[in-house]
Amino acid sequence: MTTVRVSACIVGGGPAGLMLGLLLAKRGAGVLVLEGHENFDREFRGEVLQPSTAHLLDELGLLEYVKAQPHSLLEAGKIRLAGHEIGEFSFKRIAPQYPYAIWMPQPIFLAALLRKAQPLPSFQCWMGAKVTKLIEEDGRVVGVQVARLPEGSLLTDAGLRAGDVITRINGTEIDGMATLVGLWPRLQTASELRAVVVRNGRPVSLVVSLR
Ligand SMILES: Cc1cc2nc3c(=O)[nH]c(=O)nc-3n(C[C@H](O)[C@H](O)[C@H](O)COP(=O)(O)OP(=O)(O)OC[C@H]3O[C@@H](n4cnc5c(N)ncnc54)[C@H](O)[C@@H]3O)c2cc1C
Repeated sequence: MTTVRVSACIVGGGPAGLMLGLLLAKRGAGVLVLEGHENFDREFRGEVLQPSTAHLLDELGLLEYVKAQPHSLLEAGKIRLAGHEIGEFSFKRIAPQYPYAIWMPQPIFLAALLRKAQPLPSFQCWMGAKVTKLIEEDGRVVGVQVARLPEGSLLTDAGLRAGDVITRINGTEIDGMATLVGLWPRLQTASELRAVVVRNGRPVSLVVSLR
């Protein structure tokens, strides 16, 4: 296990985590954002930044940068009920200062925040880094434990992701570290590695050629 020390460790690279990481790193704080997913194509989390969000981004000096990313502007809308138009709204009347909603899928927004933060020397973001435990000292949380897969290892080549639980390799049930280690000599002569992992409660098969 490797230990990394930073001033601020942020668990979760969602809008809150990445924005906080960006703001802290802009002020020179050493920041590490840990995001459990490998990329931002995670569960659907909406597509619309409301005028209040545009206001906030403007105050943070990020509005023009965000609007330079792929998006559409929604300025007005019609309300239909059972096929009948029953009303309409205009953001000009709702929020005269920011009279639009920004239609931007969240993965685009998150990737833009990350691109903005990455050049800052005190900023780091680890993707595929799932926090599995809080580290406490004297009743105080002083750190977190992270499960992160080394890039380029055999199992990551096979598609293993952080959080996967390996249950079977080449037909052998994996019930602990001893079984895994005992399997190693046999893998030296095997032509492929077939693993079954449990991902989000479901079994997933992974195969990688060893020749
Ligand atoms: C279906 C849906 C539609 C929505 N539509 C809109 C919309 O149109 N406009 C809008 O403004 N808002 C919308 N929202 C709300 C918006 O998605 C949330 O307000 C926003 O995502 C909250 O950001 P967050 O960073 O606090 O949390 P999250 O977006 O939940 O981010 C938390 C992050 O932490 C990571 N994480 C969790 N546990 C761990 C761990 N142990 N280790 C490492 N990483 C971890 C997760 O993978 C995730 O990426 C919608 C939400 C949903 C569910």
